[in-house]
Amino acid sequence: MLEVEKNLLKLHTLINQYENKYKRKRGSVTLLAVSKSHSASLIKSAYEAGQRLFAENYLQEALLKMQTLRDLQDIKWHFIGQIQANKTRKIAEHFDWVQSVSSLKIAQRLHSQRPDHLSPLNICIEVNISKEARKSGIDETQLENLIEACSKLNRLRLRGLMVIPKLQQDSESQRKIFHHAYLLYKKRQKKFDFDTLSMGMSSDFEAAIAEGATIVRIGTALFGKRTI
Ligand SMILES: *Cc1c(COP(=O)(O)O)cnc(C)c1O
Repeated sequence: MLEVEKNLLKLHTLINQYENKYKRKRGSVTLLAVSKSHSASLIKSAYEAGQRLFAENYLQEALLKMQTLRDLQDIKWHFIGQIQANKTRKIAEHFDWVQSVSSLKIAQRLHSQRPDHLSPLNICIEVNISKEARKSGIDETQLENLIEACSKLNRLRLRGLMVIPKLQQDSESQRKIFHHAYLLYKKRQKKFDFDTLSMGMSSDFEAAIAEGATIVRIGTALFGKRTI
């Protein structure tokens, strides 16, 4: 069995265990495979082992892989990297989801550039949850305004929030930050029909599941260490 196949099985087992342990509904947590820096052939191996959702951070790299893997038509591609304004058109044309929307300007561009023949682009708003000065994501004081504005853009479908907390060593501090993100999410869930709280990576996805994540974004634990 390939390493990536074993890792995928292991991750599904862990996710199920954590759903039980933290009284989450079975199947309520989705595994998103973060494939940045990894090859199209490794993505294909994960696909053949059943994985369908993949995430990329860099547009050019992603477009090359999409081209190589164009026959695998039921892959859903998520964009999770920082977004420069001059990249929005290609992102709107090629991705199913964008999880890293953090300004109205970017949201408006994605909205107006989403091709008519495609369904609305799924988006999450990225919140700068650890309030890091140089981090991406919107400050939570401005979150309400951005949500209101995005929910009116009909070529976008606002699904919820995404966070990338600062690395924490112990699970208690991890859970504290994730819980804060959960409260931001929960507060708007009904009004805006949210169904997605994207949080948790290889080193902290247990804490994220404990606190209500619906998508965990896993790179290293699935594909191995990144070389770049
Ligand atoms: C790279 C990346 C991940 C995956 O991180 P791992 O620690 O390798 O699991 C998840 N989310 C975002 C936004 C990333 O950039």
